[in-house]
Amino acid sequence: MKRLGIIGFGASAIGFIHGLIESGKINNYRITILERGKDYSHNTISGVRMDGKIFISHGMGGEIYIPLEIQAKTVEFYLKFSGYTPTVDKREGIVNYLKSFERDGRKIEFGESFSNEEIYKRFYHHGFEPVKSYFFHLGTDILKETNKNIYEYFSSFENIEFFFGTAVEDVEFGPPHRVHTSRGEFEFDELVIAVGRSGHRLMERLKEKYPQLVKPNQFVDIGVRYELPNHVMDPFSDMYEVKVRYRTKTGYICRIFCQNPAGKVTLEKYEDFTTVNGYSDSLHKTENTNFAILVTTRFTEPFKDPTGYGVNLAKLANILAGDKEKVILQTYGDFKEFRRTKRLGRVHPTLDSESYILGDANLVFPSKIRESLVDFVENLEKVIPGASYFDNLLYAVEVKFYTNKFLNDIVEGLHVVGDCSGWTRSIQYATSMGYMRAVGMKIQSL
Ligand SMILES: Cc1cc2nc3c(=O)[nH]c(=O)nc-3n(C[C@H](O)[C@H](O)[C@H](O)COP(=O)(O)OP(=O)(O)OC[C@H]3O[C@@H](n4cnc5c(N)ncnc54)[C@H](O)[C@@H]3O)c2cc1C
Repeated sequence: MKRLGIIGFGASAIGFIHGLIESGKINNYRITILERGKDYSHNTISGVRMDGKIFISHGMGGEIYIPLEIQAKTVEFYLKFSGYTPTVDKREGIVNYLKSFERDGRKIEFGESFSNEEIYKRFYHHGFEPVKSYFFHLGTDILKETNKNIYEYFSSFENIEFFFGTAVEDVEFGPPHRVHTSRGEFEFDELVIAVGRSGHRLMERLKEKYPQLVKPNQFVDIGVRYELPNHVMDPFSDMYEVKVRYRTKTGYICRIFCQNPAGKVTLEKYEDFTTVNGYSDSLHKTENTNFAILVTTRFTEPFKDPTGYGVNLAKLANILAGDKEKVILQTYGDFKEFRRTKRLGRVHPTLDSESYILGDANLVFPSKIRESLVDFVENLEKVIPGASYFDNLLYAVEVKFYTNKFLNDIVEGLHVVGDCSGWTRSIQYATSMGYMRAVGMKIQSL
């Protein structure tokens, strides 16, 4: 039996183990999972932190090609482990089958973007690129149980052992691969690195040690979390998320990302700065919808640090907010007219008042990004009336980092999967990438 080490127990590790089980390869290995979190329910495990929105799409979630049947398999896996059961047969068509899943008599929250031709054409006509996709929303509250069920299933295999509370500090690639952890050293014939975005410190170390395995990154996505009343988005509620891209007048591409109907805005805390994010529970609904509006910023030589650029803008917002754990909140109207917000209007923030100050995000964004954001919202108004209400809220800064991509297939017996590989940024893509590596499918970049 080969010794297989898996660092991290998040979406991509889950996909990898699922792939091993399904292909029968599991019997060839003794598997050791090293996870920094205290136990399966510890909140650094992706399942608890994420919003639990799983989608099927070719247009978003990662920069690799995932065949539709693999994406459907991933959705099915999470639905089953979340206590949902199907109510129609697969012969009804894979999407009908997946959206028929129920739990306690309640259907899975499902959405299909741009299934309505009229709406598709309206967006298209106004210069937007609509991204087609299907959404299945498990809900943050249910994901705790999902994690527990998956953990218990994997634990039932005699050749899988978990070491929680074990942070990996360094790795020397072999084979054998040597892994240094907070509880001593391990040696493996094959190694899966699946530490997600929260494992960036380990990844930085490995990238420094093994520069030949790294493809340089040129991108960072910078923008705001935008919040408006639910009724503005109601006409699009059947698609759950309005995924669109738009080339603004600056030449930068701007997009809507991570929409949370009846959701809440939240902080995303890093070691020395804080950004914004959003989520929605399947039970606790609010009167606002939030989503990120992000400007994709691309740099070319000689500048090599897009991540540093994003971090510094986020820090600037924190400095202006007077605290490294606070962000700036402004009404859209004040932002557009270069005025500091002193008073809010009809839209009540869902982020708690301790976490923001009313301010002026114009002091944070370089003009090219600022102009792109305003141009995007103004054009969005043409297809979503109410998108540019004066008192809609924007929280600064939201940043999405692209990690440098890791090149697999250079070191024998090494699999770098999920968000830490730089190739994925979603539950679907991370899980599917893990699955495809485990079963030995070729993975192509987009
Ligand atoms: C607030 C939030 C909401 C999100 N909502 C969604 C959503 O609705 N839909 C969606 O598709 N995606 C969502 N995402 C993104 C999604 O969670 C990730 O893309 C996905 O989990 C990536 O999977 P992964 O396996 O690469 O990493 P993760 O799932 O993050 O797993 C990495 C694991 O590695 C562990 N780890 C890290 N460093 C070490 C170390 N040094 N030693 C040992 N263990 C370590 C971590 O504790 C973690 O458990 C969300 C992310 C956040 C932060």
